[in-house]
This record gives sequence, structure tokens and C-alpha cells, in this order.
Amino acid sequence: MLDFDYYNPTHIVFGQNRLAELDKLIPSDAKVMITFGGQSAKKFGTIDKVREGLQSRSVVEFGGIEPNPRYETLMRAVEIAQKEGVDFLLAVGGGSVMDGTKFIALAAKKDSEHHNLLFHGFTPVPEKEALPLGCVATLPATGSEMNMAGVITYNEQKYPFMSPLVYPTFSFLDPDFTFTLPKEQIANGVADAFVHVIEQYLTVPVNAKIQDRFAEGVLKTLIEDGPVTYRDNDNIEARKNFIWSATSALNGVIGVGVPQDWSTHMIGHEMTAMYGIAHGRTLAIILPHLLRERKAKKYEKLVQFAERVWAITDGTDDEKINMAIDKTEAFFNSLDIVTNITHYGIDDNGIETIVNNMEKMGLTALSESGDLTLDIVKKILIAAK
Ligand code: NAP
Ligand code: FE
Repeated sequence: MLDFDYYNPTHIVFGQNRLAELDKLIPSDAKVMITFGGQSAKKFGTIDKVREGLQSRSVVEFGGIEPNPRYETLMRAVEIAQKEGVDFLLAVGGGSVMDGTKFIALAAKKDSEHHNLLFHGFTPVPEKEALPLGCVATLPATGSEMNMAGVITYNEQKYPFMSPLVYPTFSFLDPDFTFTLPKEQIANGVADAFVHVIEQYLTVPVNAKIQDRFAEGVLKTLIEDGPVTYRDNDNIEARKNFIWSATSALNGVIGVGVPQDWSTHMIGHEMTAMYGIAHGRTLAIILPHLLRERKAKKYEKLVQFAERVWAITDGTDDEKINMAIDKTEAFFNSLDIVTNITHYGIDDNGIETIVNNMEKMGLTALSESGDLTLDIVKKILIAAK
């Protein structure tokens, strides 16, 4: 196992009908900015319930944070937060709203050069201050409700940023707020969470037994309860397990002390930026093809994945791996996610442009060992046709 620090200050409030507890989690004299997306949080009454929980606190609303949140939109919120003297941000929505709110939290404490927050990649930004924020999560997928990451669209490209200052102080995970999700968002969420685990688990083995077994538990739960939640809107127990799987997939616990390979996310971000394909879906499209291409590099962990996650015990190691990757692809297909890029209108020219854009972004040496070059990205995309 590699050395690590582990720190996660987010207070999770899990369960139904608990929004009254907002009152004890936010200072009573705080001026609160509620941030939300296009319409779901308003239309389905979540904002009304949140406002009730905030009691007599002074509130400013900022709606219209779009999926794959844009820098320009968020800067409008920053201006308002600064002008109104907001001192607490409350994100009500999915990953886009939560990520966008994290950006607002950092940017509101800056006077200029806000876009520079986006140019540090996976290294935490150097800022020393941010507004505190909390979340009411309405879409299980990203883990943003319990981590220090965000992804923002700037100049038609997706930029990840990190800061320990943007760990939510609390996040409400109430299954009731997720029943209105369209089915395809459940599928996208299952895929996103699944790939988050894979990118911290299917790497060079370092004998990290706890992280491996926790990762395998999350994967098995997603395999069991993801499809149930997708098909059956009434199964609350499956839904609760899916929600906690999505949070557990990216709250740091399985990622400490292990190498990480975020190649699938980096390729997927480009597909979202160029073709508008939903984040989770891009990952499900790429992952099976990437695993086939990287079989030799990930051999040992792929055998473990086959045996422990998919319970494949017969055959040679090679056969087990092939079967595990096929089962992974079939799992995504069972959620009605098509795993070929042609289906989404990406042709040979599209492949060239994706690769060229990744080069411009400096994404030329991916994986935990930096050996996944753009030639290999191209091979993966061709295999995904
Ligand atoms: P999202 O972009 O936040 O939301 C997708 C859609 O779902 C929106 O149109 C939203 O509509 C709708 N929606 C949300 N909650 C709903 C509900 N309860 N009922 C009905 N509709 C609802 O999706 P996401 O997958 O959660 O977030 C994706 C973003 O997170 C991407 O930008 C991705 O890059 C990023 N990401 C971040 C992390 C991280 O660690 N921070 C990890 C992975 C991905 P409305 O706008 O109308 O509300
Ligand atoms: Fe993701």
C-alpha cells in the first residue's frame, strides 16, 4: 500500500424527511445562496422544502446552472454572492450544481483571474479561502456531495479542479429527491459510479486489501441494485444502496494508498465537450474498449475483478478476463446504454478531433504510469466504433 493522508469532513445526513435538520447545520445568522439547475429542483418542490428548513434565514436564489456547468453562468452567481454578502452556499441538484457551487465558493473569495482556478488539474488550487457550502443531492452519480472535486466547462473544454476547502460541510442524501429522475439519468449515475470505482481499483496492484475489498463491495452493490433502481421506481431499499454506493465510490475511502488511472474520464470529458453526450454515458462507452486494449497492463487486477466481482471461476486467466470485460459491457447495455461511438454520431473525423483536442489540453500521457499515449486513445476509439 502507498502512503496516504485521509481527511473527509463532510457530515452525511442520509434518509427521508430530514431537511428540518438544515436549521442546526447552518449558522442562524447566515445569508444563504441556494444554487440549483434548470428546473427540476423548483418544479418538483425541493427548493420549497429547503426554504422551509432554512426557517427565517435570509435567502438568495440562483438557478440555471446547466449540466456540465459553464464558467460564465457560475461567474454570474459569483457577482451576486459578492454583491449580496452571501456567507453560505447551498447546492440543490446533481453533480453539475454541486460542482458549480464549489467553483462559486472559491471564486467568490477572489477579486480577479477567476479562470485560473481551473488550470491546476488534480493538484489542489492554491487558494486559502472559500465560502462554506452544503448540498442537497438529487442525483446519485458523481460523489461530488462528499469530495473536494469539481468539473467546469470553460472555452468548450472540461476542466477538473480540487480543493479541500470545497468539501461540503454537510450533504443530505434523501431517496425521495431522486424519484423524479428520468430513467436514463439513473443509468448514467450507475455508470459514473461504477467507473469511479474501476479507475481507483483496476490499476497496478499494491496489496491494498481494504481498498480492494471495499471497491469490490461497491461494484457488486451497483451490479445488484443499479438495474433494480433503473427498472423499478418503487424499490426504496435498492435505491438507498445505489445512492450510498455512488457516494462511496468517490469520497476518498477506496482511493487512498492506491495508484489511480483516470484515463476513461479524460477521454469521456472530451466526448461530452464535443458531442454533448452525458458524462456517465461517455464512461460506459469507453471503459470496455479501454480495458480490452489495456489488458496486459491491468492483467493481475483484471483476474481479481473477474473472480471476486463477477464470480467467474472457470477457465484460464485470459478467458476469465475476457468474460469479465464482456459482462461489464453487457451490464452497461442492460441499462440501455449503447457502447459504440458510431451510435452517437462520432465518425473517423470525430475521432481525429477528440485526439487533437486532448493533445491541446496536454492529455498526452494518461494512466497511473503515464504510458497511455494518444496513439492508444485513438486505438481505443477505433475499437469503440
Ligand atoms: P447533472 O448534470 O447534475 O444533471 C443532469 C440532469 O439531471 C439535469 O438536466 C438535471 O435537471 C436533472 N436532474 C437532477 N436531479 C434531478 C431530479 N431529482 N429529478 C429530475 N431531474 C433531475 O448530472 P450528474 O451526472 O450528477 O453530474 C454530471 C457532472 O458532474 C458533469 O459535469 C461531470 O463532469 C461532473 N462530475 C463530477 C465529479 C466530482 O467528483 N465532482 C465526478 C464525476 C463527474 P435540472 O437542471 O432541471 O435540475
Ligand atoms: Fe465521473
